[in-house]
Amino acid sequence: MQFLEMPDKDGFFGEYGGQIIPPELKAIMDEINDSYEQVRQTAVFQDELKNLYADYVGRPSPIYFAKRLSEQQGGARIFLKREDLNHTGAHKINHCLGEALLAKHMGKTKVLAETGAGQHGVALATACALVGIDCEIHMGEIDIAKEHPNVTKMKILGCKLVPVGRGTRTLKDAVDSAFEEYLKDPVNFFYAIGSVVGPHPFPKMVRDFQSIVGREAREQFLAREGKLPDYLAACVGGGSNAMGLFTAFLEDEAVRIIGVEPAGLGLNTPDHAATLTLGSKGAIHGFKCYNLQDGEGNPLPVYSIASGLDYPGVGPQHCYLKDIARVEYVAIDDQECLDAFMTLSRLEGIIPALESAHAVAYTMKLAKTLTPEQTILVNLSGRGDKDADFVAEKLGL
Ligand SMILES: *Cc1c(COP(=O)(O)O)cnc(C)c1O
Repeated sequence: MQFLEMPDKDGFFGEYGGQIIPPELKAIMDEINDSYEQVRQTAVFQDELKNLYADYVGRPSPIYFAKRLSEQQGGARIFLKREDLNHTGAHKINHCLGEALLAKHMGKTKVLAETGAGQHGVALATACALVGIDCEIHMGEIDIAKEHPNVTKMKILGCKLVPVGRGTRTLKDAVDSAFEEYLKDPVNFFYAIGSVVGPHPFPKMVRDFQSIVGREAREQFLAREGKLPDYLAACVGGGSNAMGLFTAFLEDEAVRIIGVEPAGLGLNTPDHAATLTLGSKGAIHGFKCYNLQDGEGNPLPVYSIASGLDYPGVGPQHCYLKDIARVEYVAIDDQECLDAFMTLSRLEGIIPALESAHAVAYTMKLAKTLTPEQTILVNLSGRGDKDADFVAEKLGL
């Protein structure tokens, strides 16, 4: 049961995580942790979340056997956990509903966040509209230009959108900008972190809210196949969809688990975001984890074709799972991602998010090395509507 007790009371997964923040903020994070631990035990909170997952998000999301994709690879049978079918089109709604409900419960006046691909922004703006609480989203200008449909949706949903023009003008700087706003009134504001990152208790809370994915998948897979999958695969940016799928299987030693990072233009170039593959230990955004950083410990600019994966840190539990070798981390480059995006679209009629296409790409490679008696369960973390125009232009379709 070692994994179920993580993190420890100070928010550590082994040496990673914790709270690298000023004392005033630590008091507030501890209060969030206490409220969370108290409210999560109550039937009212659990029922509310359970009902919203069912009637609002559309859970359980199905498991789908990708027959044509499997046949084309000529090896293992590939199954998809269809988080792309959730309301708002990705896994992020799972933790946004939890965070918005908690903020409301704590009497906060405004929910704040950053967004990369815009998926967290849309999911959070959706959850805040539903719960009835003000929402403010910070987003890099490059991402705003690239993810136009999500930007429009956020405006329609009634959140305040703040464009971030400094630094890389992507996710990392959006985090800094949103955090500065949060510091103006952390007693009344709630910073809804978009992945299993940030200071304790966020890596734990976001994981817990996402763990519904793996609990469902484990039960669905057993009911269908009479055994567990041989492999799991999920893309890793901050790492929330991956922790969501992996958590229910961590104690199943026979299940091999793979996290797929973005290799961007290549691991031998500066243009990637393969934090676990090439990073070193350090601190970022209030916690300890592997980082892509320069000699002084400043985050390096990172890049991926998938905006939702270009983050120079990564969730602390992933760092721990890498060190103890419970999860293997690999990287897939932009070209392999695009190939998988098109292959899944053409063979299965499912257009994946570019983020999710990284996991599909690795699965395609892995499947070829296995037999049809073996199975791979992939988390299809989101759908690709937001990426369709970008890919069509890139490929000249
Ligand atoms: C945001 C996003 C990701 C990356 O976030 P994680 O926290 O690593 O899961 C992956 N897939 C989709 C569809 C996303 O929107």
